[in-house]
Amino acid sequence: MALVSPADEFQPAAHPPAGPFLVRALDDPRYPCALFLDVDGTLLDIAGSPAAVIVPDGLRATLQSLHHRLGGALALVSGRPIEDLDRLFAPLCLPAAGAHGAQWRLRAGEAVGRKAGKPLPGEVRRRLLALAGAHDGVLAEDKGTSLALHYRAAPAARAALLAGLEEILAGPEGVELRFLPGKMVFEVLTGGYDKAAAVERLLAEAPFAGRRPIFVGDDVTDEPALAAMPALGGLAFSVGRLLPGAAAVFGSPEALRSALASAAGMPP
Ligand SMILES: [Mg+2]
Repeated sequence: MALVSPADEFQPAAHPPAGPFLVRALDDPRYPCALFLDVDGTLLDIAGSPAAVIVPDGLRATLQSLHHRLGGALALVSGRPIEDLDRLFAPLCLPAAGAHGAQWRLRAGEAVGRKAGKPLPGEVRRRLLALAGAHDGVLAEDKGTSLALHYRAAPAARAALLAGLEEILAGPEGVELRFLPGKMVFEVLTGGYDKAAAVERLLAEAPFAGRRPIFVGDDVTDEPALAAMPALGGLAFSVGRLLPGAAAVFGSPEALRSALASAAGMPP
């Protein structure tokens, strides 16, 4: 028998390869799963702007097949509004939580439910749009209850945007605003929801209730949901880098897509 040196014994346990781990979990008949997937940077490669992302050939068929295999318990969980997700993945109309949980849809094709989220105060919106307008290449995305400033095309503007945001966020008295830094994007939203709450809302009802949740995400905005998985008896995976709470890491969105295709019995 090989000797294990004391130093080896104290090495942290290696994270298992994410693909086979996810496929096994989705296939385990003892624990029917509910699968929650972030979109940008997780299922899809990040592009120069949110409108420029590409849904690769075969992904829709993979998602459709998995949705069927999981008894409908597959949801997209995104900062994008659900209308935007539907446009991207058309003709699919999957269960989803959109706008960081301010919107939800439990079953494919159903109407979208909305939390009566407060719109951003007009003064805050005006100042955010002015901040974006002051920097060439910064794209403002207005989602009603939130406003995102994308600076992928203007990375040098990051520090100035942060300074401007700090002033704007300190401004209005009595208005609860949250700040979400993401990949080359800063988002300001009215308080009250995050992706952990979004997943728990879906898990409370059929077809998700009673299933073991699996969440896959890639960014700071996914961390509450990743961290919530152990207490919910679930599993968390991250993409691109190890995030707190993740049991294993996919190297790229493509690696995740390939594992999902394999779990769905589709050609890779
Ligand atoms: Mg993401």
